[in-house]
Order: sequence, then structure tokens, then C-alpha cells
Amino acid sequence: AGLLAGKRAVITAAAQGIGRAAAEAFQREGAIVTATDINAEKLAELKALGMNVATLDVTSKDAIEAFAAETGTIDVLFNCAGVVHGGAILDSSERDYDLAFDLNVKSMFRIIRAFLPGMLANGGGSIINMSSVAGVPAGVPNRFVYSASKAAVIGLTKSIAIDYIKQGIRCNAIAPGTVQSPSLEERMRAQGNYEEARAAFIARQPMGRLGEPEEIAALAVYLGSDVSAYTTGHVHVIDGGLSL
Ligand code: NAD
Repeated sequence: AGLLAGKRAVITAAAQGIGRAAAEAFQREGAIVTATDINAEKLAELKALGMNVATLDVTSKDAIEAFAAETGTIDVLFNCAGVVHGGAILDSSERDYDLAFDLNVKSMFRIIRAFLPGMLANGGGSIINMSSVAGVPAGVPNRFVYSASKAAVIGLTKSIAIDYIKQGIRCNAIAPGTVQSPSLEERMRAQGNYEEARAAFIARQPMGRLGEPEEIAALAVYLGSDVSAYTTGHVHVIDGGLSL
């Protein structure tokens, strides 16, 4: 049996990147996975692997409530959805700020509110929230709204962890450095000179390489499983040395 044998898990933003690697790793470890995303086409690939899939926009309270009612009680919730805005504060609009906070932070408020009552009734559960080293513990250039939103995820995580610690709920955050993913590829292409952009991202990593989604997925498996039973409320940094 795997580390997550028999655990019912929901993952957001599971169509690609870290969320997808986590969905596949959770399934390999024996979890009953429901993979969600707004990208129905890519979710179909996960359905073909035997996962439950659901189209879910994490910015929609109504959609989340309907989804949670349909899904029922779960043991592990991995809130992976997030969007990266570039730019310093003077480059950032109200719209960017609001969207980042809606998608990166308030989504977690909505989803946790929807699934936590079931976890409490069931005697426990593990919630994993996607933060980033941009925010805490590092300062990353040109990531103003992103960093502010990812730092907010940490406060949210600690608050839930302490409020429900006696009821078997654990809530941890993951803070990755730069990880190879489809949206990172887009960000590198958008900078004009792809090779230069890639070299700059790698240069930020003291290990001299980008992280792989599977490496972050392995941490999510650990945090979702009972192996990590003694840790809650913390930021688990996994960054190739970026914040050293
Ligand atoms: P990605 O950015 O390539 O994919 C993001 C996924 O989110 C896509 O499948 C997209 O369809 C989905 N999505 C977008 N809006 C959504 C919405 N409203 N509701 C539901 N799903 C939605 O994947 P990634 O780069 O692995 O990033 C995943 C998470 O990890 C994000 O929260 C990101 O901030 C965080 N993160 C990434 C890195 C990195 O370097 N890649 C580093 C630190 C943290």
C-alpha cells in the first residue's frame, strides 16, 4: 500500500505543472484522486488515467460549493491554483492585485470553508496550500502582487493550523523556488529572448537548475500522508537554494 492508500484527495489546478504531477503522485501512492482545473481538455487525460475529474474555477464560490457537496468528505486537499503576475508595485494595477488575491488566496478561503466541515466530522484531514519563496522567505524581483498574495497564503495557513490543531486538522504551505512548468515556459517565452530568460531563471537557483514538478509533488505526498503527522502550520521551502 502507498503512503496515501485509501485517502480521498482533491487537487486544484491539476491539469498541468505541479498540480498535475501531484495528482499522478497521489494516485501512485494509493489515493482516490479528484483532479480539478478549468482546462477540461487536459483533465480528460487524467480521467483516462482513472482519476475522478471535475471542471472547477477556484474563483467561483457557487461552483466550489456545488463541487464540495457533490464530492463529499475528503482526507487531503491540495490547493495548488495560482497565477503569476510580473512587475514591481508601480507596474501593478488594481485589477492585477485583485485577480492575484482572488485566485491565489481567496480561492483557498472558499475551498477550505467548503471541505473543512466534512474533515472535522471525519476526525481530521490534511490541507496543503501552494505558496512560493516569492513572498516568504525570499524577495524576488518584479513579483509584487504575486509575492503579496503568496505571503497571504502563509497567514491563512497558520491561522487554520492553530484553530483546528486539536481536531486532527493539519494545514501546511509549500514554498517552491522556480519549477519547470507550462506557465514558466510561457513566462520565459514572453520575455523575448527565451534562452536568456531561461539562463536568468537558472542563475537564480544556487543548485544550478530548475525544480521538477515531481519534486514538489513528492513534498505534497509527504504533507498529505500520515508520515508528516507531526507538522502543521509551517512553510515547507523547496527551492534549490534560492532563499539561502
Ligand atoms: P501552471 O501555472 O503551468 O498551471 C496552472 C494551472 O492552473 C493550469 O492548469 C490552469 O488551467 C489552472 N488555472 C488557472 N486559473 C484557474 C482557476 N481560476 N481555477 C482553477 N484552475 C485554474 O502550473 P505551475 O507553474 O506548476 O503552478 C502551480 C502553482 O504553483 C501555482 O500556485 C504557482 O503560483 C505555484 N508555484 C509555481 C512555481 C513555478 O516556478 N512553476 C514556483 C512557486 C510556486
